[in-house]
Amino acid sequence: MFVEYFKSSDHLFVPSSSVIPKKNDGSYFVNSGMNQFKPIFLGTVDQSSEMASYKRVVNYQKCIRVGGKHNDLEDVGHDYYHHTFFEMLGNWSFNDYSKAEACRMAWDLLTNVYEIPASRLYITYFVGSEKLGLKADEECKDIWIQLGVPKERILPFGMKDNFWVMGEVGPCGPCSEIHYYHGGGSADKARDFVNRGVEDMKEIWNLVFMQYDRQPDGSLMNLPATHIDTGMGLERLTALLQSKSSNYDTDLFRGIFNHISSLANVDKYGGSLVSKTDVAYRVVADHVRMATICIADGLMPGRKDSELLRQVIYRCLYQAQEVLKMPQHTIHSLVAIVVQSLKVSYPYLEENTKQIEEVIRETEHRYLCNITTGRKIMKKALNSQSCSENHKLSEGYFGSAVSYDIISLLAHEFNVSLDHDDYERCLSNINKAKPLAVSPLQPAPFQRPISLTQQDVMRLKEMNIASTDDSHKY
Ligand code: ATP
Ligand code: MG
Ligand code: MG
Ligand code: MG
Repeated sequence: MFVEYFKSSDHLFVPSSSVIPKKNDGSYFVNSGMNQFKPIFLGTVDQSSEMASYKRVVNYQKCIRVGGKHNDLEDVGHDYYHHTFFEMLGNWSFNDYSKAEACRMAWDLLTNVYEIPASRLYITYFVGSEKLGLKADEECKDIWIQLGVPKERILPFGMKDNFWVMGEVGPCGPCSEIHYYHGGGSADKARDFVNRGVEDMKEIWNLVFMQYDRQPDGSLMNLPATHIDTGMGLERLTALLQSKSSNYDTDLFRGIFNHISSLANVDKYGGSLVSKTDVAYRVVADHVRMATICIADGLMPGRKDSELLRQVIYRCLYQAQEVLKMPQHTIHSLVAIVVQSLKVSYPYLEENTKQIEEVIRETEHRYLCNITTGRKIMKKALNSQSCSENHKLSEGYFGSAVSYDIISLLAHEFNVSLDHDDYERCLSNINKAKPLAVSPLQPAPFQRPISLTQQDVMRLKEMNIASTDDSHKY
C-alpha cells in the first residue's frame, strides 16, 4: 500500500540496495533508506547515471542497525520494536516537492488510507540548537497545525531526537517524527511524552528535511539543494495495523516464533518484557533474520569487516542453546522460515537458502569450540589469584583463540564485568609475544576463512548484491 500510494503520485520505485555499504562509506551496514541516495544529497551523483534523473522516489530498504551511529543491538529483545534487521519504507523528493507536501502525504496515508485514528498520533519537530546556530523549525510546526493536528500534540525536541544524521559525517537535517500512542485509556499523554516516560508511545515515521552535510569537526555545510527523506519501519507499521503492541506478535514473526517454539525446551513465548526466555525468543527471531539477510548479501561472519555479523550469530546461538535449550545444530533450520516470510520482497533469498544454512552451520561449529574453551578458561581465571578484586578479567587468559564476543557472553554468564579497552591492550601485548598467564591454548579449529568460489561471486554480482568494487570482500 505504501509503495502504491507514492507511485500514484509520480514516485519511481527503486529497489532496496544490499545491506553492505559502498566502499569507504564510513558505516558498517546500510542503516536507512537514504544511504543509496547519498550522492544525490551531496551533489556528487554521476550525471550520466540513472540516479541523476531521480526526482520522486519510493522504496523499501533492508536496514541493519548494529554498530556505528545507529546501533540498536543492546535494545533488541528488551523492547518490542527495535530490531537489528528491519525494513524501512521511504519516499523521497530530490529538490522537488516541499516540506508541506511531504507532511500532507504522510498524514493522508496514515489517517485516510491506513485509517489510523488521528487522535493517537503525536508529532515532533526540531526546537533548534544554540550551539550550531540553528533556529526552531516553526515552519514545520505550522504545517502540522494547518493539517489539523492539535497544538498540544505537536512537541519540540532537540538534536538527539529531531536532527537526523546518517553517521558522524554526511547528509543531515532537522526532522519531524510521527509517534503513535498504543496504550489503553486516553491518548492525551503529551506531558508524559515530553518527559519520555511513556512505554506505550512509539515512533513510527520520520520525515527528514535534508539540508546540511556534517563535517568531521561537527560543523554543518549547506547542501547544494534541499530534499525530503522519509523512513517508516515496516514492522512497527504492521504491528499498528494488526492492533499489536509488539512487532513480534505480527505475522512477520509468527512462523519464526512457531518454529523456535517447536525446537525450544522451555515454556511457550509469553510476551513478557522481563522474562529471560521471552527476551531470548525475541533475540533469536531477530538475529536469525539479520544473519539471513547479511549472508545473502554476501557477508561472511568473522571476516575482518564482518565481525559484527559473527557477534550477532554468536549471541543468537547463546540465547538459543543456553536459555531456550534448543538442541545444537538446529538454528540453521530457521533460515528457511525467514526466507519464506521475506521472499516476496526479496526473491533472491530463496535460491540462496542452502548456502545461508551452510554458513550458519559452520559458524555454529566455531561457536561451540569457542564457548567450550572459553568456559574452561573463564572458570580457571576466576579461581586464580590474578583475577583482581573487582572481578575485572585480567590479561592473558583468552589469547586470541577465543573472540571478544564469546568472552562478553561468558562475562555475563559468570557475572563479571569486562573492560573492552583493557582487553584490546592485553590482546596487543599478547600479540607482541608476551607469555600467557596460563598455558597456551590449542589453536581453535575452523579458523580457516570460508571462501566463496569465483562462480559464487559472479552470481552475487548478477543478483546485484555485490558490485565490482565489493569483490575484495570475497
Ligand atoms: P527510535 O527512536 O525508535 O530508535 P529512530 O529515531 O532511531 O527510532 P529513524 O532513524 O528516525 O529511527 O528511522 C526511521 C524509522 O525507522 C523509525 O521511525 C522507525 O519506524 C524505524 N526504525 C528505526 N530503528 C528501528 C529498529 N531498530 N527496528 C525497527 N524499526 C526501526
Ligand atoms: Mg534509534
Ligand atoms: Mg527516534
Ligand atoms: Mg527517528
